[in-house]
Amino acid sequence: MLEIEQLSVELDAEAGLVRAIDGLTLTLRRGETLALVGESGCGKSMTALALMRLLPVNGRILSGAVRLDGQDLLDLPEHRMRALRGGRLAMIFQEPATSLNPVMRVGDQLVEAIEAHTPLRGAVARAKALDWLARVGIPSPERRLGDYPFQLSGGQKQRVMIAIALAAEPDYLIADEPTTALDVTIQAQILDLICDLQRERQLGVLLITHDLAVVSGMAHRVALMYAGQIVEQAAAAQFFAAPRHPYARLLLQALPDAQRRDQPLAAIAGTVPPLWLRFEGCRFEARCDRAMTHCASQPPQLADTAPDHGVRCLLYSQPGAARPREVVEPRPVPPGGRVDASPLLDVRDLRVRYALKTPWFSSGPRHFDAVAGVSYQLQAGRTLALVGESGCGKTTSGKAIVQLLRRQAQVSGQVLLDGQDLFRLHGPELVRARRELQIIFQDPFASLNPRMRVAEVLEEGLMALRPDLDAAARRARLHELVDQVGLRRDALQRWPHEFSGGQRQRIAIARALAVEPRVIVCDEPTSALDVSVQAQILNLLRELQRSRGLAYLFITHNIGVVEYIADEVAVMQSGRIVEQGACDMLLGAPREAYTRELLAAVPRLRAAAGLMM
Ligand code: SF4
Repeated sequence: MLEIEQLSVELDAEAGLVRAIDGLTLTLRRGETLALVGESGCGKSMTALALMRLLPVNGRILSGAVRLDGQDLLDLPEHRMRALRGGRLAMIFQEPATSLNPVMRVGDQLVEAIEAHTPLRGAVARAKALDWLARVGIPSPERRLGDYPFQLSGGQKQRVMIAIALAAEPDYLIADEPTTALDVTIQAQILDLICDLQRERQLGVLLITHDLAVVSGMAHRVALMYAGQIVEQAAAAQFFAAPRHPYARLLLQALPDAQRRDQPLAAIAGTVPPLWLRFEGCRFEARCDRAMTHCASQPPQLADTAPDHGVRCLLYSQPGAARPREVVEPRPVPPGGRVDASPLLDVRDLRVRYALKTPWFSSGPRHFDAVAGVSYQLQAGRTLALVGESGCGKTTSGKAIVQLLRRQAQVSGQVLLDGQDLFRLHGPELVRARRELQIIFQDPFASLNPRMRVAEVLEEGLMALRPDLDAAARRARLHELVDQVGLRRDALQRWPHEFSGGQRQRIAIARALAVEPRVIVCDEPTSALDVSVQAQILNLLRELQRSRGLAYLFITHNIGVVEYIADEVAVMQSGRIVEQGACDMLLGAPREAYTRELLAAVPRLRAAAGLMM
């Protein structure tokens, strides 16, 4: 059994001491999956790092215990802890791009893990490595063994990380957002693999995720964290059928789907409070829709409100008068944005070809067609969702449209923006067109320059593409932007590394909005976000669309998001569009076998009752 008892972790930050985890108690048994959920910045990943004793240099464990079969891991000398890490306790990190060794071949990294933690050696270990790559769904695993991480896509790197973690045959797996970067079919395959291993080897899984549909399909128990504390802990079925903490109820209501299509999602107002604050009462009080007068002054304790159903809320221990509060009605979605029948963006026979470094003596292919002739149109005020598995060409086609592949690949076809072919533009005309067409990248960690403060990140685009604005106008625009994406204004003076993934994505969205574009390529813009932030971002994108007639090319693998936001859907496979049509028609009655397979792999929230509460 893996037990965490009254664990508290503190970090040194510029703003002062941050209590990242405050008195956390959890138990994980062999053979069970415990899901740790909550908004970004609430302490989920820090919990995983603390129990692996991998805290960043500015962090320390203040108190508590982490026991593995009764042995306190916090007392172990480092050499014994090192043997446990990757052995009995394996971890899949959130960020595959930075977790793999960039100068070591993928196969060597796998063999290293196998030789360090199993009796297998040499050729047998190499055969096992090949077997693991195949099990996690890497295509042509023999060829991939010799690749370096940079030669793999984000999804493939994540699968290699998962293979390395599982290859050591651990007793417990700490999986921090293990499938966030993966498309639904690979996600389903990886989750099935983890479930199989759980059954075979009694693997205990601590699953850290913001995807509640994955949690409902995988987890036996759920622990919901908020601002460094557990606020609700229950059996998964009970949690989804009858969530008790106001935060849990709001989270479930914030999930996008087809039923909520014409309404704003129930986003939770505000953000997680900074953890350098000293809290007098309930940490959720400022955002709670059920807050009472005494909630601001009395800290609630985690207590059982039903057998094995702990809740940290005064509603159950000291009910009282509701706090008088301003009733903020959700802003109705403004009716009828500009929907023009003529296409704003007209993509015709787009092709992207990469040269392959094939040796001269080899008869292998000399190029690879990442996009092999796709055509679609996008009207102002409309959303076209591009869906498909990773590697199918959706992100490549998005990058080609915004002219990011000019020097890297051979791009052909036509991309007409208001009738003007972008591939024929140069100089000032191209700059003007770039203002009209922006992109929000998938990876909020890699897409922001770590050496620039947020104000500089946002101002850079304005200076390049809006030379008409003076310094005062730019400053006013920056304030408007951070307000729009739900960040505090002091964020402008901070560095990207000071923000959580969700907050960084909001900065990236603010950067795309800065120059007031007409078309935005949204490349998985919410895949790194938890559901409450996702709801805020989707509401924001919809509102901007209705009020300004923005058109979105929405690249995603989240079908719930597609159902909620898309007018049309195009399904891509191997660089081609295999099916395209109106969203409800295509998702309701797909014609192609591939579309049906893709939809079947989508995790769905099993207990709908919770959504109604
Ligand atoms: Fe809301 Fe009060 Fe419960 Fe906190 S203690 S969650 S403010 S009702």
